[in-house]
Amino acid sequence: MAAVDYRLEGEIAVLTIANPPVNALSLPVREGLMQALERAGGDPAVKAIVVTGEGGTFAAGADINEVSSGLVLKSPITREVQARMEAASKPLVAAIEGVALGGGFELALACHWRIAATTAKVGLPEVKLGLLPGAGGTQRFTRLAGPEAALEAITAGHQIPAPRALELGLVDALADPALDGALAFARRAVAERRPLRVTSDVGERIRGVDPELFAAFRRKLEAKARGQLAPFRIVDCIEAACTRPVEAAFARERESFIECRDSPQRKALVHLFFAEREARRIPGLGPEVTALPVHRAAVVGAGTMGGGIAMALANAGIPVSLLELSAQALERGLGVVGKSYDASVARGSLTRSQADAALGLIRGVSEYPALAGADIVIEAVYEDLEVKQEVFGRLDRVAGPHAILATNTSTLDIDAIAASTSRPEKVVGTHFFSPANVMRLLENVRGRHTSPETVATVMALAKRLGKIAVLAGNCDGFIGNRMLMFYGAEAEFLLEEGATPEQIDRVIEGFGFAMGPLAVRDLAGNDVGFQIRKGRRLPPDERWSPILERLVAGGRLGQKAGRGYYRYEGRTRIPDPEVVALIEQVSRELGIERRSIPDEEILERLLHPLVNEGARIVEEGIALRASDIDIVYVNGYGFPAWRGGPMYWAEEAGLERVIATMRRLAPRRGARWRPAPLLERLVASGRGLSSGLA
Ligand code: NAD
Repeated sequence: MAAVDYRLEGEIAVLTIANPPVNALSLPVREGLMQALERAGGDPAVKAIVVTGEGGTFAAGADINEVSSGLVLKSPITREVQARMEAASKPLVAAIEGVALGGGFELALACHWRIAATTAKVGLPEVKLGLLPGAGGTQRFTRLAGPEAALEAITAGHQIPAPRALELGLVDALADPALDGALAFARRAVAERRPLRVTSDVGERIRGVDPELFAAFRRKLEAKARGQLAPFRIVDCIEAACTRPVEAAFARERESFIECRDSPQRKALVHLFFAEREARRIPGLGPEVTALPVHRAAVVGAGTMGGGIAMALANAGIPVSLLELSAQALERGLGVVGKSYDASVARGSLTRSQADAALGLIRGVSEYPALAGADIVIEAVYEDLEVKQEVFGRLDRVAGPHAILATNTSTLDIDAIAASTSRPEKVVGTHFFSPANVMRLLENVRGRHTSPETVATVMALAKRLGKIAVLAGNCDGFIGNRMLMFYGAEAEFLLEEGATPEQIDRVIEGFGFAMGPLAVRDLAGNDVGFQIRKGRRLPPDERWSPILERLVAGGRLGQKAGRGYYRYEGRTRIPDPEVVALIEQVSRELGIERRSIPDEEILERLLHPLVNEGARIVEEGIALRASDIDIVYVNGYGFPAWRGGPMYWAEEAGLERVIATMRRLAPRRGARWRPAPLLERLVASGRGLSSGLA
């Protein structure tokens, strides 16, 4: 079949895009559309044209490989196809089944009318790849739906369900199947000689817009998208649609598109896009290894994490038993879950009936035998090896022989936990991030005896929960927390040498993290951080800074105590001279002469040790590839996505810089702070982290 099929339905030419799997607008599709439009336009027997897609979807966008290769700019480009469409002298109707996204939706927007299936979704998600819609999307969307809706939807890359798109004026009617509706619509348009509605000429919603709308939206974006190019350029384009002549406004979009396309942010986000795909591939896990079906699940411990994990399972339609041994703890845990669903409803992220349906799948239980029917049990009790071993021993006795026993431990040894069961091949780490029902990352941890089938099951489960999973090997802290230890330790060493908490947090937040390391500590609780630190054994040539311990001893437990690295008024942090005095006292005791430390040094000393440890993790095979680490940090630790993740960022800046920082630090910090051998090999051979040299 050609990339665009042409057939006649009576007097209507039906143009069907057929480019599996998602009908991306590759060059053959654009050529096919041009030819088909010529043919339909030139055939006097054809009175109207319907454009649709094969295989239950309209078109999911431009071909991302063509964006990278530049083929996307080979004529006919999408804009030329659209110009041909808008110049058509016969009614042109899009029939949208499945999704019309990005360039696919831009194509539909250039038709005179759009008919969508009730379950279809439309949207312009380009911003997620650091781009903006470059084929009139910002202009036509704004003209049809108005600037408020355009700002919200295009800067966030939202997918819009068809009923909402109808309300907004983006589609003209809903019909199932969409093609039948579009054919009927086209016939009526012919019979009624309806004037053609060229979207670029639609003007009602863009007139008389208050300029303050854009200023206010930019301020809102400052808080959410600081440092990012594409969202701000999208606002510029939507503003241009409302304030400039058509030609100038479309030109503005084209210029902004090129600026975004050529920006390092776009490249970084495309790196992450491919990294996500790659993370699902587990070497040695062939198609013969199948995931076990998960019909029912159980969670042990209804604390912060257990409650969130139960919600994540229930939200995916999996019935879950939630175990706490005391009735009081169970009641408290279920209470928190209920409140959290109420908050989702209040926020509009779930409807009341969706929340009730999910809540109905969570059953509180207080005895182990109640877990017998589960296909997977996820343990989320205290972070204490003995407690976890005891729990796993009991789970092993009550769970069905096929059941997988997973632990949510942040740092403990999976093999030591597995040793307390008779089924180490079915024991695995499933490290969720807080809040577990929201955070997209799942770090799955493979123990020495974990079977391929168990790994396949937890990878498939992640997908079902709408999460992105990375597979890690078993070591202290796995991927994320192992690297973080160096970042956290160095933050305190910087304090000892002369930095202040607000300087450190300001530098890291300026880089693009949502929160700096010390503000994060205050949020999580300094007592919790100190407890974790005590559980870790340092090599004899290393030390911890005493600052954290002193804060805890002085009751500075963080936000919950109203004081930590900062003083708090509500959630607002305020620099605290008493903390600075405490830090200065530590510097004096250690004989360190305090100095003013440049921001650049702070950034390098915090992030380079993180990257250096990441390289060791790749070299040891704890991570399957460097890009998995990028996925972990962007999705679990707040690393700015538009910088591509720590490994990508470091490589773009030059890995030799990481080596230089580590050479300076290692003599004072210990052997683990020496440059990772992998980095030295890569720099010596002029190769990159994806070269397979690990
Ligand atoms: P938490 O203290 O909030 O909850 C633990 C719960 O387990 C409590 O409700 C407790 O009553 C219950 N419990 C203890 N022993 C039990 C037993 N034998 N049987 C049944 N229930 C039992 O702790 P949390 O923050 O939810 O952490 C749980 C686990 O998740 C820990 O291993 C922790 O390291 C890990 N983790 C925590 C976070 C986080 O941000 N809090 C993130 C990732 C992983």
